[in-house]
Amino acid sequence: MILIRNATILTQDSKRQILKNAAICIKDGRILDIGISHELEKLYKKRAKKIIDGEGRVVMPGLINTHTHLAMTLLRGYADDMPLKKWWFEKVFPFEGKLKAEDVYWGSLLGGLEMIESGTTCFVDGYFFADAIVMAVEELGLRANIGIPVLDFKCPEFESPDDALAAAEKILTKPRGAELIKFSIAPHMLQSTSLETYRKCKKLADRYKIILQTHLAETEAEVEYSRKKYKKTPVRLLVENRILDKNSLVAHVCHLTDDDVVLLAKSRVNVSHCPVSNMKLVSGLMPLKKLLNKGVNIGLGTDGACSNNNLDMFEEMKLSALVHKLAEKDPSAAEAQIILDMATINAAKAIGEEKNLGSIERGKAADIILLNFQQPHLLPDYNILSNLVYSARGNDVETAIINGQIVMENRKIQNVNENKILKIISERYNG
Ligand SMILES: [Zn+2]
Repeated sequence: MILIRNATILTQDSKRQILKNAAICIKDGRILDIGISHELEKLYKKRAKKIIDGEGRVVMPGLINTHTHLAMTLLRGYADDMPLKKWWFEKVFPFEGKLKAEDVYWGSLLGGLEMIESGTTCFVDGYFFADAIVMAVEELGLRANIGIPVLDFKCPEFESPDDALAAAEKILTKPRGAELIKFSIAPHMLQSTSLETYRKCKKLADRYKIILQTHLAETEAEVEYSRKKYKKTPVRLLVENRILDKNSLVAHVCHLTDDDVVLLAKSRVNVSHCPVSNMKLVSGLMPLKKLLNKGVNIGLGTDGACSNNNLDMFEEMKLSALVHKLAEKDPSAAEAQIILDMATINAAKAIGEEKNLGSIERGKAADIILLNFQQPHLLPDYNILSNLVYSARGNDVETAIINGQIVMENRKIQNVNENKILKIISERYNG
């Protein structure tokens, strides 16, 4: 049993309560109780194996990154300041073509460390060599939804889409003990994945009751491709073919018609918004206001480190708020609470986990982070929510708990030898 006492708790519950002088009791990986600190201390102090003093700390749900490619941390700083086509064909594809499972393992460890150290406790991934990702993620103690990528081209792991689907089936039927890892199927995008392959992916997703995630309407070129080949927008094509529904998560959607927005809302498709990646690659800007007005559920994502170039969800939150204020010419647009919801409870909803994750409430999984708010850039605390979204940084996260396990305490990673991993990464991957 862990007791976090005397803290300010940003619950993200349905009332969005912020509790002062509060405590949380964690037992068997779940939140057993939450309430006034001195009352909970009376109840649980004696039984608690570990007591964390929350004085000057803000306790909140761990952040959920709804779209990334973890091992692309290996491509951080490898391809910048260039047009998208050049970025893909001259840098990313050739690099990825040489990747082996071992590389993906090291890249995932690197990305996983970065995530924990910046307050992300759960993420949605999509990359080759899922077994290597699983190995890294399990060592770190992270929670993840790992997407098996499917595309019509030959890729580092698979010769064909059928190979990828067969491998996915093997992974999905393999018995696993860990409840922290789930899987999804990830048809890549329309330009690399045929409608036929999308259909096969959807069939598999339905059979195994898993999420289908894909990149969608990310670039103007993709929309043009779809209009030319299928005479439809990417959204209309996939909705009409029953590929997308409430069990889908689509990343980017920068280029939408008003009709697309309605279709996404009606089909209850979940969206992953990755504004930093979209800005860096100049892909476009997702119409946040239009989607929210129609009630589309949106989570936030960093995308891979090659197009961001970090996995810091605090930075993603701030930039997301700012870019939409600018685009709408309205400083009241994309307010802090909306943005924080996209990184917590709505992100949980986007992966079908809103009953288990995304807020601090009794019975939910104990995925919790503690931030040190006794720092110059986080004082005074007129408005904790505002400080979190506009002033906080990933490295303000001091302690991270996932499924009731402390994975980082006072900035020290608990489950792996971080220095050793960083040394290996710098030796293996350099200019
Ligand atoms: Zn992506």
